[in-house]
Amino acid sequence: MFAHNKRLQYSVHVSECNPGLANLMLEQFGGPQGELAAAMRYFTQALAEEDPGRKDMLLDIATEELSHLEVIGSIVAMLNRGAKGELAEGVAEAAELYRSLQGAGNDSHVTQVLYGGGPALTNSGGQLWSAGYIDSIGDPTCDLRSNIAAEARAKIIYERLINVTDDPGVRDALGFLMTREISHQLSFEKALYAIEPNFPPGKRPGKTEFADVYVNTSQGEGDMRGPWNGDEHFNYVSDREEMLAMDGGDGMARVKTMRPDEEECVAAFATRTASHIDSDPTTGAELGSEET
Ligand code: MN
Ligand code: MN
Repeated sequence: MFAHNKRLQYSVHVSECNPGLANLMLEQFGGPQGELAAAMRYFTQALAEEDPGRKDMLLDIATEELSHLEVIGSIVAMLNRGAKGELAEGVAEAAELYRSLQGAGNDSHVTQVLYGGGPALTNSGGQLWSAGYIDSIGDPTCDLRSNIAAEARAKIIYERLINVTDDPGVRDALGFLMTREISHQLSFEKALYAIEPNFPPGKRPGKTEFADVYVNTSQGEGDMRGPWNGDEHFNYVSDREEMLAMDGGDGMARVKTMRPDEEECVAAFATRTASHIDSDPTTGAELGSEET
């Protein structure tokens, strides 16, 4: 069960109302790297997790992310507080109010006017929150790697948001939220390495003859060698003949056995849609380019 505490995980003391800044903050409320996405990601992973330690961790972090959602949503609400009042009471001339919400060319006229100044489940561009932001697949090594990357992205978005405001209260709260993503990343990394082995993901080993091959498919000036394709770990293949049909076969696609009626239908289809290679059809494009 969930219970709610009236106090936030971190105090939100916004210096002054700023609808434009509120709009940017929505990125971490209802955006792809935001707190709702993080909470739903870990909560749903936790429900299916078999390992008691990871289940506990995922529930702890999911619940903390909901607490972050509350913090960032409160930042949005406080930054919009003045605009919300003005919108509701209609104190200014319509055009003047609209301009004041639009601020420095941001999209807050969408999120503030249409959502009444409350924190909308959208990103800063007004894009609706989507469950498609979550890419869980039910394999702990894959999901942990994705979680590590998700925390890294969330950290970077907070960093960018801190860089665009000089409001000390907002910067302080964002600094806290950013820091918590660092500690989540640490937990997820530790949890990943606590699974042995964790690479490759899954149960089946790869085909050994292809596992350490580096295929130099983009060739020419700019070809580089580094640890990602070095001779110590990789068989570096540049020869086109070696890449084409790496199985050593003819590299063609075929079906071994087809029913006679299937064969017949495919042949009929091919005949019906065959190119007449000796024809010279007149096209609309040609007609259009004729001088009149
Ligand atoms: Mn968070
Ligand atoms: Mn996090």
